[in-house]
Amino acid sequence: MTDKNVAGSNNSDLTEMNRSAIVRILQQKMCSRADIARMTGLTQASVTKITAVLIEMGIVSEVGIIKGNGNRRSIGLRLNAEDRLVIGVKFSRHMFTIGVFDISGKLYTVRQTDFEVTKDTGEVIAKIKKQIHGLLKKYTNVVAIGMAVPGPFFREKGRIAVITAMPGWHDVDFVSEFSDEFDKPVFIEQDANAGAMAEWWFGKHNRPVTTLAYLLAGEGIGSGVVDNGNLLLGMKGVASEIGHMSIDVNGPKCECGNFGCLELYCSAPQMIRLAKRKIPKLLGDRYNNRSEECNAVFDAARGGNKKAEAVVDEIGRYLGYGCINILNAYNPDIIVIGDILSKGGDLLLPVIMETIKERVVPEIYDNAEIEMSELGIDSTLLGAAAIATDKVLRRPSEYLAIV
Ligand SMILES: [Zn+2]
Repeated sequence: MTDKNVAGSNNSDLTEMNRSAIVRILQQKMCSRADIARMTGLTQASVTKITAVLIEMGIVSEVGIIKGNGNRRSIGLRLNAEDRLVIGVKFSRHMFTIGVFDISGKLYTVRQTDFEVTKDTGEVIAKIKKQIHGLLKKYTNVVAIGMAVPGPFFREKGRIAVITAMPGWHDVDFVSEFSDEFDKPVFIEQDANAGAMAEWWFGKHNRPVTTLAYLLAGEGIGSGVVDNGNLLLGMKGVASEIGHMSIDVNGPKCECGNFGCLELYCSAPQMIRLAKRKIPKLLGDRYNNRSEECNAVFDAARGGNKKAEAVVDEIGRYLGYGCINILNAYNPDIIVIGDILSKGGDLLLPVIMETIKERVVPEIYDNAEIEMSELGIDSTLLGAAAIATDKVLRRPSEYLAIV
């Protein structure tokens, strides 16, 4: 086995890396060969040679004349994204959602299936597989499958570490279940890492981003960090589990074994618990799921209900503490907050920013950009597609030259 610390690169690896660099640029925008040379530092001659191969493989096309750097007119190149599809699977506590996307993030079809948490895991897995097989039959140019599962997810074992209220699922080996089933590559990540990748690949941020942190605020609290295009994974792939960072060492015990974990203070279930305690009449049995319940609390706060405002305020403050830990640990350019609670961004953001301002050094506060996710598609689902997209763009000749 190669020691990662001293691994070298063979010529074939370098060729693939250069192809990947070009394809990754073209995933973001149309460019001329000169633009690519400028951005990658490759010589014009190298770019010409590499793009010729990519054109021959059908991965890239010429699109006629475009205006390049300094208004120079040159031939544009584009990625043939619509010919390469990925299937994204979001697996969560009460449902799974499967979508077909192309590698530019365009959604073709999506379907959500609810299941009972107590249901036999084999039955649910069979349903997921059946739907994927159906899609592979219909969409013949799928190049990979990406899957997002609740974290922490141990990639080597293929298993989810702690999954609240879903005991049977702890024993499921997701990697072998799904990799052995299909003749397409399957890539699995925890949900917050998937969300981070969705923001990295498909988010429209108004400045260049080097380090992006994604804070998943939904059924649980999680985070994912992408640094220069790479997910921060740690030894077992469970790095940046901000939800299980203790914010009160004497706080209540969490299922992970730690005490006073952030997740216990500002997840969607916690917001609902608070609302039910402080405003018992607000929620009742009227709503179908946690997302609707949280939205009802946000609406009440927007309508001036003081108790609802207090609930939202408390959640916002704790999300702020989470952001402070992320800022101090990773120094990101941007933190994007996504999932259920991002629907209350208009109310939560001011509280989050105020909390951060009180507690972090001014240089960090002044440069910190905190945003709510604006992807328009469930960021974990799009993230599952982004995980697959990222992998195939890293090895274009292996995964993209097959159509
Ligand atoms: Zn915990």
